[in-house]
Amino acid sequence: MTSTFILNSGVVLPAVGYGVFQTPPEQTATAVQTALQVGYRHIDTAAGYGNEREVGEAIRRSGIPREEIFVETKVWITDYGYAATLHAFDKSAGKLGMDYIDLLILHQPLPSRFDLTVSAYRALEKLLADGRVRAIGVSNFMGDDLERLLAETSIVPAVNQVEVHPYFRQSRVLEADAKHGIVSQAWSPIGGITFYPGWGGEDRRSTLDDPTLRTIAEAHGKTPAQVMLRWHLQQGRSAIPKSVNPRRIAENFNIFDFQLTYTELTAIDALDTGVRGGPEPTSITLDTHSFDIPEA
Ligand code: NDP
Repeated sequence: MTSTFILNSGVVLPAVGYGVFQTPPEQTATAVQTALQVGYRHIDTAAGYGNEREVGEAIRRSGIPREEIFVETKVWITDYGYAATLHAFDKSAGKLGMDYIDLLILHQPLPSRFDLTVSAYRALEKLLADGRVRAIGVSNFMGDDLERLLAETSIVPAVNQVEVHPYFRQSRVLEADAKHGIVSQAWSPIGGITFYPGWGGEDRRSTLDDPTLRTIAEAHGKTPAQVMLRWHLQQGRSAIPKSVNPRRIAENFNIFDFQLTYTELTAIDALDTGVRGGPEPTSITLDTHSFDIPEA
């Protein structure tokens, strides 16, 4: 189990980060400040979340030196292409109010326009070479996407951020990442996508109510969320739980004082349904998912 990873660019990534997807801009600065007070030193945002400005504001207000906080953000597909992605860095860095970004990743592959995906990634390589970003990576890349990217570019992504929780383990992607020394980073690490309010019907099963997770949690005097986060850490993944609730923000960071057994880890692995909560990465196209990312 590690609480940090050394990425392939030599940069240290705190394994547990704090995610802000769906956090409204007006709540983001307070929520991020709470997370920083609790001890998180890694924040995951995205150009597409519309709250980079407030993430930057919270970091400045915290008084914690910039270099002690790992800032990760993502380029949206509308900004793919060499020049457009270089400019996407300016937009994100401008909103964050930062002159460098710790980890900049492509939010999605565009399998229908892989040429654009590759030129976007080449822009990330340039930003890395110029010292504007400290590491580069991808998100929602399946094994085939990784192979295609690696064949046409020179720097292996440091991180692949993908949906991973007990109901969707994505072992083939995790294996593909491991083969190339890419750190797998779990989004929806406690299965948020299985219970987000307003997403999907009554037939959804929430990971938080899972009997196996509840039993394991009780055995350790912890919550199902804490057990899921510990499962990620012990299996060598980074995880970026989101909450806007101060109690749950703290709960999700209080996972360094217990250890799951091999039998418990295996029992959690066995909960995999093979069913993705998020969209099929191939269904994301410029026709269906374009939206403009405003200037800084
Ligand atoms: P999470 O698995 O982090 O779950 C978040 C949900 O769980 C929220 O509804 C939150 O509500 C609730 N919650 C948080 N902590 C607890 C707890 N201890 N007990 C009970 N409920 C809890 O899901 P997300 O999908 O938000 O993923 C986390 C992060 O991953 C995102 O914020 C984003 O940074 C990233 N992400 C990336 C994607 C990508 O395509 N690359 C896609 C989706 C997410 P509340 O806030 O009220 O506590």
